[in-house]
Amino acid sequence: MANVTKGKTSADIMPDTMPVSSLSGVSPGGAREAQLHKLGIYTVGDILRHYPRRYEFRGDVVTVKSVIDELSTPSLSYPFPSFFDNIDTSYDATTPKSFILTVVTEPKLMTSRRGLSYIKFRAADDTGVCEVVFFNQPYLKRTFPTGSRFRFYGKPTLTHGSLRLTSPSYEAAPPGAELAPVVPVYSLTSGMTQKIFSGLVKKAFSLASSTLLDRIPEKLREKRSLPTLRYAIENIHFPSDEKSLDTARRRLVYEEFLIYALKVMRIKATRDTLCAHYIDKTDITPLISQLPFPLTGAQKRAINDIYSDLRGKNGKRGPMYRIVVGDVGCGKTVVAAAAAYFAIKNGFDCAMMAPTEILARQHYADLSDLLGKVGIKVVLLVGSQKARERRESIDACCDPNGPPVLAVGTHALIEEGVRFRRLGLVITDEQHRFGVMQRAALSGKGESAHVLVMSATPIPRTLSLVMFGDLDESKIDEMPPGRQRVTTYVVDESYLERIEAFMKSETESGHQVYVVCPAVDDDNDGNTDADPDEIYDDSGMSGTGRRDMMTAVGYAEALSKKFPDIKVAYVHGKMKGAEKDAVMRAFAANEIKILVSTTVIEVGVNVPNATLMVVLNAERFGLSQLHQLRGRVGRGSAKSICILVSRYAKAKGTTAYERLETMRTTYDGFAIAERDLALRGPGDYLPSSESTRQSGEMPINLSGMDSECAMKILEAAFQDAREIISDDPTLSKHEHEPLAAITAPIEGAERTIS
Ligand code: ADP
Ligand code: MG
Repeated sequence: MANVTKGKTSADIMPDTMPVSSLSGVSPGGAREAQLHKLGIYTVGDILRHYPRRYEFRGDVVTVKSVIDELSTPSLSYPFPSFFDNIDTSYDATTPKSFILTVVTEPKLMTSRRGLSYIKFRAADDTGVCEVVFFNQPYLKRTFPTGSRFRFYGKPTLTHGSLRLTSPSYEAAPPGAELAPVVPVYSLTSGMTQKIFSGLVKKAFSLASSTLLDRIPEKLREKRSLPTLRYAIENIHFPSDEKSLDTARRRLVYEEFLIYALKVMRIKATRDTLCAHYIDKTDITPLISQLPFPLTGAQKRAINDIYSDLRGKNGKRGPMYRIVVGDVGCGKTVVAAAAAYFAIKNGFDCAMMAPTEILARQHYADLSDLLGKVGIKVVLLVGSQKARERRESIDACCDPNGPPVLAVGTHALIEEGVRFRRLGLVITDEQHRFGVMQRAALSGKGESAHVLVMSATPIPRTLSLVMFGDLDESKIDEMPPGRQRVTTYVVDESYLERIEAFMKSETESGHQVYVVCPAVDDDNDGNTDADPDEIYDDSGMSGTGRRDMMTAVGYAEALSKKFPDIKVAYVHGKMKGAEKDAVMRAFAANEIKILVSTTVIEVGVNVPNATLMVVLNAERFGLSQLHQLRGRVGRGSAKSICILVSRYAKAKGTTAYERLETMRTTYDGFAIAERDLALRGPGDYLPSSESTRQSGEMPINLSGMDSECAMKILEAAFQDAREIISDDPTLSKHEHEPLAAITAPIEGAERTIS
């Protein structure tokens, strides 16, 4: 509840202070209220900002006959069945369709051969008859009396010449009824249905729409031809057509970007008023001479850049704010160690934040090894630590008589209670997973700390200019010598036998194998009222859905059965941190030979003995993501291979094919990132929705938006933000007032100036 009233101006207090229980149908302390709270919805304003995850365009009603005709001549756009699809002789429509049908036979309750109960009836329009089936909902028998008319929406199948709809969405459509042409679909929680939720949105809108505060100054709205907030909110939830949806979305995305841009710029402005900690001349030879290898030229350059920043030799007075970007495996850890060395040898503490516990532990192991040799103390701070261990680490950071330390950890580092004596340098790893605000919270723990950001995701130049124009960049564009290219193959599923045989032979020669399974899209989220995918997929992101987890587990089980002598294990995002950690550690220790996972392994785990990466349904991943995955292998001296398995392997002319070809032929992370941006838009590079939840950044889902359009809006918003800031640096003008509160540098950052 804490965020409800914080930093609001009087004008927008209405919807944002009105608890959800002010809506009829939501009673204080009741089940409905609890469900809403679980979704992070506390106020009427929160409901209005809980935007649909996607939309169903049900206005285009088709006839039974036209669909039978279409499905009788299967199209070429769906050339290969997915490995995970049930393959049978029937033809599925690739997209859901809308029908208006009258029930012609009474629903019968039946039991399938596998023991599932289902109801079945026939429904017809003027052109033909369709069979409708619902599983496990016997009570629906009474919903569909003969003669009643409904709009059904779902993917029809054609079996033996007759059309069938299985668990479609449905709405009563008596003659003369006005049905919404576009139906929103929300991410919800168990017990909450789409119908109930959209009902609540309607109530919230009629209660609060007149008091909504439009944060975008009218001048900018006109300049960018954007609608009012009122229009945008109404049409993001209940668009009358695609055009009004698009207009609404453009406006909301623009607003998110504008707020984001202003926050970033205000944090930067705050930072630039600081006076940096001075780092004295420091000889780094003791550290470098400990390394078992000579540094690459690119590593030396990055270390020199950092040294100049820390010494104030770059012509700037403020602290360092540098991003080190380099492909997986280029050796960023050593650069981080060098930075920490400079700070610590000058008496400052240093904190390094990683996005996952596995990664934090790996850094801790590497860095305590490396820096321990030169007498530097490294401590670990992660969530799963025992209280005593944690206490010791915290003490080491704040004991006034102790030596300066490097604290390596996760978000645990930015928690209350963690204090440093003199925090001089903050390093964050894999930066695109953190938001700007989280980084600021960490630097807020030390006054005017230097900031070093390590990114393994090359950020496309176009985007980094917009988003990180204020960061100095060091590129590590050179790999340590002896690295081999990870030869990449793109094949279709018919190769799976051979691939599995290859997995076996790799393990037999002592190596290890990764298999990555995708999130499987909900391809049958028909029933609006009880849709398992809607309920469980609460993130809107790939890699966390329920089915892909089943898939990783299922495939791991299939492999174990096939190869009883090979140790196969799985890891996925829904496992507990400690559990995941245990599996990853067993893999790193070569106790597990084949690891089947979702994308949780994407982020920097180092297992040099792994030589084969197999990605199933590879078309479902972003290019940068595939590049990261590929970087998991080829880290040792042995020849490594990446096999991308996709039904589009031979589907020349499709975008999916083009994307896979890019992976096969391109090894430069920067080039891949550019391509990815062009194909998928900036969404993947912005803070993930998970960190969004915690920090209030970027709640909008960009996935429905054309990438070029999203980039344009992003650029426009940044340009406008720059103009606002240069005209009114503290946002004190009346028209900027609503933006001032919401973009105020967060507490941590404020603390740095106090
Ligand atoms: P990343 O940039 O992905 O964080 P790491 O820092 O984990 O890369 O380095 C990957 C591997 O390369 C590590 O095993 C590290 O010891 C090794 N390495 C780093 N720099 C060099 C170098 N200059 N020469 C040889 N090996 C290096
Ligand atoms: Mg790394």
